[in-house]
Amino acid sequence: MHLAPLIEGRVTTNERMAPHTTYRIGGPADVFVVAESVKDLRKVAQFLAEHEDVPYQILGGGSNVLYPDHYQGVVIHPGEELSAIERNGSTITAGAGAEMHEVVLKAAAWGLGGLDFMAGIPGSIGGAVKGNAGAFGKWISQKVKKVKGFDLTERVEKTLKEDEIQWSYRSSNVSPAFFITEVALKLEPGSREASMAEIERIVELRKSKHPTEPSAGSVFVNPRPPDVTAGRLIEELGFKGRRIGDAMCSPRHANFIINLDNATQADVMALIGQIKNAVKERFGYDLAEEIKIITSQEEPVCKKEVRSKEIGKKSNGGK
Ligand SMILES: Cc1cc2nc3c(=O)[nH]c(=O)nc-3n(C[C@H](O)[C@H](O)[C@H](O)COP(=O)(O)OP(=O)(O)OC[C@H]3O[C@@H](n4cnc5c(N)ncnc54)[C@H](O)[C@@H]3O)c2cc1C
Repeated sequence: MHLAPLIEGRVTTNERMAPHTTYRIGGPADVFVVAESVKDLRKVAQFLAEHEDVPYQILGGGSNVLYPDHYQGVVIHPGEELSAIERNGSTITAGAGAEMHEVVLKAAAWGLGGLDFMAGIPGSIGGAVKGNAGAFGKWISQKVKKVKGFDLTERVEKTLKEDEIQWSYRSSNVSPAFFITEVALKLEPGSREASMAEIERIVELRKSKHPTEPSAGSVFVNPRPPDVTAGRLIEELGFKGRRIGDAMCSPRHANFIINLDNATQADVMALIGQIKNAVKERFGYDLAEEIKIITSQEEPVCKKEVRSKEIGKKSNGGK
C-alpha cells in the first residue's frame, strides 16, 4: 500500500527533519506525511495498521523534540487545513497546527484575555496541549475547553473534555497515538491594548533570557518548581559553556543545550548524560528530560495497548 496517492496532503520520503525542528537537528525520516484532514489521518492509520512494525511520531512545530540521524518510521504533521483559528464568543477554536503565538495574538486582537502568558512559546497549539506548555506559573490546560483528535490505533475520532485529560507539570496523558486535530480554548473578555502591551513585554523578556542559537527550550523539567530549578543546579556545577561536538550548555541559560552548528542527537545526549550524572552525584536529584528524544527503536505505538486506556481518565492534576 502506498500512501501518496491516497491522501490530500503531502507525502515525502527521506525528508530531513532538521528544518522541521527549532533544534535544527535530525537526519531523514523514512516517510513524512503532512495531513490535511481526518480523512488523511484515517488513511495513515490504515497504513500503520498494515505495517505494524513501523514506528511513527506526531510532529507539531518541532520546538520540543530531538530527532536522530535517521528516523526509520513515519512522521505525521498537521497541514494548513488543520491550522485555522476561529472565534465564537469567548471561545477560540484552533487547528492543531496553528502557531501558539498566532493564537495568542488573535485572542488579543479579538479582545479576549487570559492567554497572554503563552506569548512567545514556539510551536503549535497541538504540541502545547500535548505537553501542557506554560509559563509564569500558568499552563495551557487552564484554558482548554475540549480537544478533538483522531486515535491512530483505534482509528476513531474522539473529543476529550478538559476534565477527561490528566494534566501534570509539562505533560498530559493524551496518548502518543492520539493526533490532536483541534483545540477549543475558553477565554474571557479582556482589553486589546492591555493584552498587546503584555505580549510585547513577555516577548522582550524572553528575548533577554533565552539563547538565540537553535535549541528545543529547557532540556530538563525543574525538579521542584519554583524552589529548585534545573538551570540553577546545572549552573552551580559549572556546566555553562561545556561543549560536546557542536552541542553546548548555553552560557546564557544553563537549562538550554544549544546547537552551535552541526550538533547531532548523540552530541546532545552525551551532554545530557554528563549533566544528569553530575546533578545526581552532587544534589541527589534525578533530572528528567522535558524535551522529547525521538528514536526508531521504541516499540511501535500501535502495538502498545495502554494507549487507549490512558485517554479518558478523570483527574485535575497539574491544574
Ligand atoms: C526558545 C524556546 C523557548 C521555549 N519556552 C517554553 C516555555 O516557556 N514553556 C513551555 O512549556 N515550553 C517552552 N518551549 C518548548 C516548546 O516550545 C513547547 O513544549 C511547545 O508547546 C511544543 O510544541 P510543538 O508544536 O513544537 O511540539 P513538537 O516539538 O512538535 O512535539 C512535542 C510533543 O508533542 C507531540 N505533538 C505535537 N503536535 C501534536 C498533535 N497535533 N497531536 C498530538 N501530539 C502532538 C509530539 O508528538 C511530541 O511528543 C520552548 C522552546 C524553545 C525552543
